[in-house]
Amino acid sequence: MAVRALARVNLCAIERNVARLAREANGSAVCAVVKADGYGHGMVPSARAALRGGATWLAVATAGEARDLRAGLGDDAVRILVFGALSDAELPVALDVGADVSVWTVARAEAMAASGRAARVHVKLDSGLGRLGTRDATEADAVVEVVAGADALELAGAWTHFATADERGDHFFGEQLARFKAWAEPVRAAHPGVLLHAANSAALLRDPASHFDLVRPGVAIYGLDPFGEDPAQRDLEPALELTSYVAALKTAEAGDSAGYGRRFVAARETLIATVPIGYGDGWRRALGNTGEALLHGRRIPLVGTVSMDNVTFDVSAAGLGAKLGDDVVLIGAQGAEQITAEDVARAIDTINYEITTALTARVAREHHCDGAGTPDAGT
Ligand SMILES: *Cc1c(COP(=O)(O)O)cnc(C)c1O
Repeated sequence: MAVRALARVNLCAIERNVARLAREANGSAVCAVVKADGYGHGMVPSARAALRGGATWLAVATAGEARDLRAGLGDDAVRILVFGALSDAELPVALDVGADVSVWTVARAEAMAASGRAARVHVKLDSGLGRLGTRDATEADAVVEVVAGADALELAGAWTHFATADERGDHFFGEQLARFKAWAEPVRAAHPGVLLHAANSAALLRDPASHFDLVRPGVAIYGLDPFGEDPAQRDLEPALELTSYVAALKTAEAGDSAGYGRRFVAARETLIATVPIGYGDGWRRALGNTGEALLHGRRIPLVGTVSMDNVTFDVSAAGLGAKLGDDVVLIGAQGAEQITAEDVARAIDTINYEITTALTARVAREHHCDGAGTPDAGT
């Protein structure tokens, strides 16, 4: 039965994608990244699917995500790494749920050591992304020594993050990799057991030299291509399908318009289908007059402005036979046609990550395994 906007997420596709990435990782542990509500796919069900697929670690960006993930999983054992900066107020939230945290300043390391509170720490080198972490390998070494010397702290990881892993052929990736190796390998030699990690999805698929002890794929576990190409080329299965339905049908005579600002004016008699999804659901306003969807296995053009709650499509094509209640596929396959998140992103000059992550809480999420129920469906 049609609901106004539905994201159906195939958890078995996530499981297979993780298993495929684990094979590629060839012995390195897999840390599945489930931040931002699992890139819009649902954090806890995606995490469970990733664990079934062979991930042994999970990662999130924030302390609140770590807390919600731990509570949702009901599992105290699985390792959860928090990538992001943590304020003094947020640090205890992460530590309360036994999450591993990232540290890159001596001041933070010393404060944690002085508190006597148990914590597992991953020291972050900024090898070139220019965001979080210290750029200074000497400072990173000093953080390592404070952590390693503190009774309550465990030196769990030494890590970095790439700026251009998704731009194949660029030289900067190799420079970052060399900078990271030069710092991290001696750290591991001095502190056996510390895990080195650097690779996001693109690096994992691009260069085995980036794998080290642990890889951190995010986008690819959802079957999205980190290079913005067709996921099938890399044996990734898109897990998310976004559907809505034909809620109203009307004939626009020549000169009639559809939507705010009259950005579409019919040149001739046109059958217009109103589909109840809009930017309030994360279906981006930039798709006005450029988006597409599938109806009866054929592409239909989005006409006019995307409003908060509705969009309009031209369904006048010969033989289409649009009827009230018909399913409309915005991301996914219908018949022989397919619209990927990569296609949607390309139309509005953004990346697939943003398309699925933008889907708001108003879009119902339904979890399944290849069309059937799963043990954790609906969670
Ligand atoms: C989000 C994130 C990842 C995952 O990146 P993908 O490109 O989605 O694979 C890995 N590492 C860090 C530090 C991240 O913030």
